[in-house]
Amino acid sequence: MIYLDNSSTTEPYEKVLDVYKQTSSRYFGNPSSLHRLGTETEQLLEAAAQQIKKTLGLKNYDIVFTSGATEANNAALKGAAWANMNKGRHIIASAIEHPSVTETLDQLTELIGFEVTYLPVDQDGFVSLKDVKAAIRPDTIIVSVMHVNNEVGSIQPIKEIGGLLKQHGNILFHVDHVQGIHKVPLSIEEAGIDLCTISGHKFHGLKGTGALIVKKGTRLIPLITGGSQQKGVRAGTEHTAGAVSLAKAVNLSARDMNERLSSVEAAKNALMERLCRTDGVVINTPAENSAPHIINFSVPGVKAEVLLHMLEEKGIYVSTTAACSAREHKPSRVLLQMNKGEQIASSSIRVSLNFSHTADITEPFMAALVPAVQKLKKMMR
Ligand code: PMP
Repeated sequence: MIYLDNSSTTEPYEKVLDVYKQTSSRYFGNPSSLHRLGTETEQLLEAAAQQIKKTLGLKNYDIVFTSGATEANNAALKGAAWANMNKGRHIIASAIEHPSVTETLDQLTELIGFEVTYLPVDQDGFVSLKDVKAAIRPDTIIVSVMHVNNEVGSIQPIKEIGGLLKQHGNILFHVDHVQGIHKVPLSIEEAGIDLCTISGHKFHGLKGTGALIVKKGTRLIPLITGGSQQKGVRAGTEHTAGAVSLAKAVNLSARDMNERLSSVEAAKNALMERLCRTDGVVINTPAENSAPHIINFSVPGVKAEVLLHMLEEKGIYVSTTAACSAREHKPSRVLLQMNKGEQIASSSIRVSLNFSHTADITEPFMAALVPAVQKLKKMMR
């Protein structure tokens, strides 16, 4: 099997599984309990948060452990919107955000009367700083722009947007960093990000683990109410083993980024180069300023799902659009926003790599793809 669907989810590191099991059995105390087992577990949670902060170079931030990025995006946007709705009810977001952002914003619009300005993207999937600037109003309270798009890999100008927002002290900056972490360097602190979302299972951690990184002093109304765990921002007995496993995955993938990112990049470049020369294939990932692990291409006229299953027969696993939308069988919303048209948006395949990949995957991938494309094209004639 060649697993090329790493933007959907990744295989957990063996050490992450070990640490999860050890923590679950040895530190099963409730971190809120006052006895020794509780205190030790609480210290372990704190150590996990410290380790994440150290690895990501965060001095002035708190870590709120969540069940993943969907919860972190909801907690960030609803929490900040509710806390600041007396100051204004306008939010700015890119038009190609993940549904955990867009659906959350739609809910704020429908239920509480927020207004959202969606920033358009160009043909390569980039937001422009000029559009962000033009969209800012006196009642804007949040700007939410993802770091790396999960379907096409375009890298947004986060540092520049953060720089612009430094002149607007009343606007909070939220970044969905799910596809960018340890793939594309970003200093959360330097970019002036107030709220930043990460998800463990996208970097060889476990599903059901993630975090919202919150700049100290940022007021959020808790999405999940109850006990006073996690400084009152996220109620519920903490998932200690999940938090420790997340810290482990952050650490190990930081090491992999340092040691192996260049070979992932080489794999992407080799694949892109071959795909460019393949009849019937159109590349949707921008040639520049795109993440090293995502390649999106279309075979116009061919149903992406059919091609996906033909590749699967050869032991190659890819995805059509993002995994969470794949079962809807709709054209890619991201590609439509990029003005690629219905045909390209209905025939797109995403290949997403992990740290184990090198340019060696090019041959087996092309050996499976080319005859499949030729066969499908012939059937269409
Ligand atoms: N944001 C982005 C950019 C994603 O790619 C995903 C996963 N598809 C999510 C958010 C949601 O992540 P999770 O599965 O951890 O809820």
